[in-house]
Amino acid sequence: MTMTSAEIRSAFLNYFADRGHEIVPSGSLIPHNDDTLLFTNAGMVPFKDVFLGSDKRNYTRATSAQRCVRAGGKHNDLENVGYTARHHTFFEMLGNFSFGDYFKREAIQYSWDFLTKELKLPAEKLWVTIFETDDEAHDIWVNEIGVPADRVSRIGEKDNFWSMGDTGPCGPCSEIFFDHGEEVWGGPPGTPEEDGDRYIEIWNLVFMQYNRQPGGEMQPLAKQSIDTGMGLERIAAIMQGVHSNYETDTFQALIKAAATQVGVDDLQEQSLRVIADHIRSCSFLIVDGVLPSNEGRGYVLRRIIRRAVRHGNKLGADEPFFYRLVDGLIKEMGEAYPELAQNQQRIEQALLQEEQQFARTLQRGLSILDDALSELSGDIIPGDIAFKLYDTYGFPLDLTADVARERGVKVDEQGFADAMDEQRSRAQQASQFTTDYSKQIKSEQVTEFSGYAQSEDSSEVVELFHE
Ligand code: ATP
Ligand code: MG
Ligand code: MG
Ligand code: MG
Repeated sequence: MTMTSAEIRSAFLNYFADRGHEIVPSGSLIPHNDDTLLFTNAGMVPFKDVFLGSDKRNYTRATSAQRCVRAGGKHNDLENVGYTARHHTFFEMLGNFSFGDYFKREAIQYSWDFLTKELKLPAEKLWVTIFETDDEAHDIWVNEIGVPADRVSRIGEKDNFWSMGDTGPCGPCSEIFFDHGEEVWGGPPGTPEEDGDRYIEIWNLVFMQYNRQPGGEMQPLAKQSIDTGMGLERIAAIMQGVHSNYETDTFQALIKAAATQVGVDDLQEQSLRVIADHIRSCSFLIVDGVLPSNEGRGYVLRRIIRRAVRHGNKLGADEPFFYRLVDGLIKEMGEAYPELAQNQQRIEQALLQEEQQFARTLQRGLSILDDALSELSGDIIPGDIAFKLYDTYGFPLDLTADVARERGVKVDEQGFADAMDEQRSRAQQASQFTTDYSKQIKSEQVTEFSGYAQSEDSSEVVELFHE
């Protein structure tokens, strides 16, 4: 059985609607009234206060297809894009939720039933993980569902205790994996080869039980709840018989559009995948009100756009191409997300402006980086070069690191941070001198690229890179 992404989305929502769940439209990528979170990174985010008990709805079961971005904050997959078959900066999470209604047993049964009966996935290709001490979940999977015990593994906190962020609702979880077969490299969950793309996590069932406090204390929730999330792109790959999300209908269309715009024939180019990924996150972030800037969310957006532009440049694009992909995105996703078409012009303008701005310094910066790479004796690009690229040519640190990674080298992040600090204290000192002298210092610092405010907080930039 093969299904399009759109068919899977509606099959999921209808399955849970038939079982008493309210279909709730996707919320914004910008979490409302929540400073703890950079972007909506999971389907549960719009329901956070419902889990905590401070927001009451007139339903106790809900289902949604939530747009998510993982490019900063606790869950950050930016560095995975282009390197794994399954990670995106933007993806859709299909979820079913119970707010003090059903719990573990029903959540497990629903998920198994949906996968094996609705989607008709072969049971023998499914593997399960549980939180190491969760005997109850083990019992349900093995004795009630009938998954062989050797396909159920107990995993520790890092992977099987889910939290939205450093604080907020959390709990032990159980994840369902699909085995893509021996032609793909990788091992089952819990083995050293688990990071390969053979056994891919498709669905996470979180048994919400606690509210993590700022000090780390785990406060039990008044009502045990359920939060599940299944990546639409990952299940689409399975339903379309392909081993990578990038081979699915949605991504192939975007990759072809990108190939046409930059003028390449080889659809397997890694850079095309990155561009196809990035046009989704950038467009949706703009739809939800983010614009490129030098701090916070806006700087994440700027970083993603510039990475896309650099990948286009690598493929030979010599004029703005990224904004032209919005049209193809609307063809693919406009039906599910009418706000894309409603904002088409705004998205295109913001992207084009950023492309044009970066184009002024990209080429020079790249040739400086190239020189540095060819003169490099070790495998670390010095921090002052990364800083110069950042400060003068508008290269976010992660972009320099992305180029470096392609050449098998790293960037001295500490050296970068030190150079940034140094410049800040120089600027501070300068502002204490007489007017004339400070003018002189400032004019010395005038650089070709003027996109960054002098007050930019270095710690934030470095932090963004580390996340
Ligand atoms: P992984 O271990 O593969 O990084 P995860 O455990 O971080 O996934 P969860 O936080 O459990 O992911 O999110 C629920 C589901 O959302 C996952 O099971 C997966 O199907 C999907 N998902 C998570 N991250 C991504 C991503 N970056 N791109 C696409 N789908 C994702
Ligand atoms: Mg992850
Ligand atoms: Mg995982
Ligand atoms: Mg998971």
